[in-house]
Amino acid sequence: MIIGQTAPVNFPPIRMYDTRRRAVVPFEPLEPGEVGIYTCGPTVYGPQHLGNMRSQLTPDLLRRVLLASGLRVRFVTNITDVGHLTSDADDGDDKVEAAAAREGRTVAEITGHWTEQWQTDRRRLGCLEPDVLPAATDHIPEQIAMVEELEAQGRTYVTADGVYFDVSSFPSYADFAGLDLDELEATGRVENVADKRHPADFALWKFSPAGSSRLQEWDSPWGRGFPGWHIECSAMATKYLGNRFDIHTGGVDHIRVHHTNEIAQSECGLGVHPWVSVWVHTEFLDLAGEKMSKSKGHVLLVDTLVEEGLNPLAFRYFFLQAHYRQQQAFTLEAVRAADTALRRLMHHAVVARDEVGGAVDGGDPALTEPLREQFWSALADDLDAPRALAVASTVARSAELTAADRWSLLADFDRVLGFGLAGATDPERDGDESADPAIAALLAQREQARADRDFATADRIRSELAAQGLEVVDAADGTAWARRSNVPSVVTDR
Ligand code: AMP
Ligand code: ZN
Repeated sequence: MIIGQTAPVNFPPIRMYDTRRRAVVPFEPLEPGEVGIYTCGPTVYGPQHLGNMRSQLTPDLLRRVLLASGLRVRFVTNITDVGHLTSDADDGDDKVEAAAAREGRTVAEITGHWTEQWQTDRRRLGCLEPDVLPAATDHIPEQIAMVEELEAQGRTYVTADGVYFDVSSFPSYADFAGLDLDELEATGRVENVADKRHPADFALWKFSPAGSSRLQEWDSPWGRGFPGWHIECSAMATKYLGNRFDIHTGGVDHIRVHHTNEIAQSECGLGVHPWVSVWVHTEFLDLAGEKMSKSKGHVLLVDTLVEEGLNPLAFRYFFLQAHYRQQQAFTLEAVRAADTALRRLMHHAVVARDEVGGAVDGGDPALTEPLREQFWSALADDLDAPRALAVASTVARSAELTAADRWSLLADFDRVLGFGLAGATDPERDGDESADPAIAALLAQREQARADRDFATADRIRSELAAQGLEVVDAADGTAWARRSNVPSVVTDR
């Protein structure tokens, strides 16, 4: 793994903003040396846009900082392939079922396609692979078991439409998001579902409509139906990280409903408090003054950047230019500027790297250590990426530092920057690798192996290409390859 280097001996203490305590707090893992992170993943009924990806980049940055500090990290993010309704409340259509009906495709086609798009885009943005990637539909028994426990505790009631959690059974329900439940009751926070006792009560299990069946439905002690959206995250996070774990992340839009409900179910069902030590929420990526959002119909994708001739990693650079707790305004000009800055950084890094033959342990500590300290202190201080990026950029351009100084620092910093500097080519001297007959032959052999379903050979060739600095990504519409410093280009169609 790329994060294999030894941690700095004196890594600064890590502090994080915790939504629950509304303060920056020292980060202390529950188990010394180990960290568990759960991130709410995509609802796979359509493309994940750059706003969604911002909410994946924050936990990737956090995970990389924790790894760099010497901790072992287990990173779990999920696939929501059932139960997320068109409103965050308890009515409306299931987004996945609605997409399948609209497009005349099976649920598996819809969820498979969009899961793959999201995975490809995560990779193109330099995110590390999840350690565990559970899908909600693979965890129905775990979700039913949790609802049964809540029912046994007398915290649920059944209506004509499903099994509901009674928020009055959990007196601290409103604390996490600072909700005013009386006002909600008066104004109705959510569209009222028949027989709900309080607008904040939420579905744990929903029944299939009487007289008809859904594309995805399961038997349960309460009748045939499907799980509510919130229970999946409680069940999967707990299954893979334990009854209590360290960090839960997601976008700020999840604080009031989804995460509030996850906490209610989990703290009651498991008898723990706090269920999660630190809650990390990413602010919105805005487009034209509004949250980038599928429902508003204005979204941009990683593909949009590629079509504009930009390196997807320019979006990672752009992401690092703003603090994750600030809203960030998307403009193509800003990502273009980030692309230029990234090319400069890569150019300087590659020149320094090649001058010292890739040795990372050179340099004059009297010059390098204060800069290393500044970089890691910025990130340890609630992930201050803009400050850290400024240090990296100064180092790359410095005329005072030798190549050995610069590469020793930039190779270290890239553990979190994630630009693949060790394998990058100089973007100011790129050639066209597809014109290289040796690489073209390997790509063709790999395509043949995949067509023959000989995945062992395909994987071996992928590793061979990786050793030459080429990353191969299999997507639904073909195989893409990229130099880590280049814009991916689709070279084959299946
Ligand atoms: P969804 O696929 O709608 O469940 O969203 C996946 C994740 O993206 C959630 O954590 C959302 O909070 C997050 N998200 C959605 N829109 C944005 C946005 N414009 N900026 C940042 N995060 C977002
Ligand atoms: Zn979730």
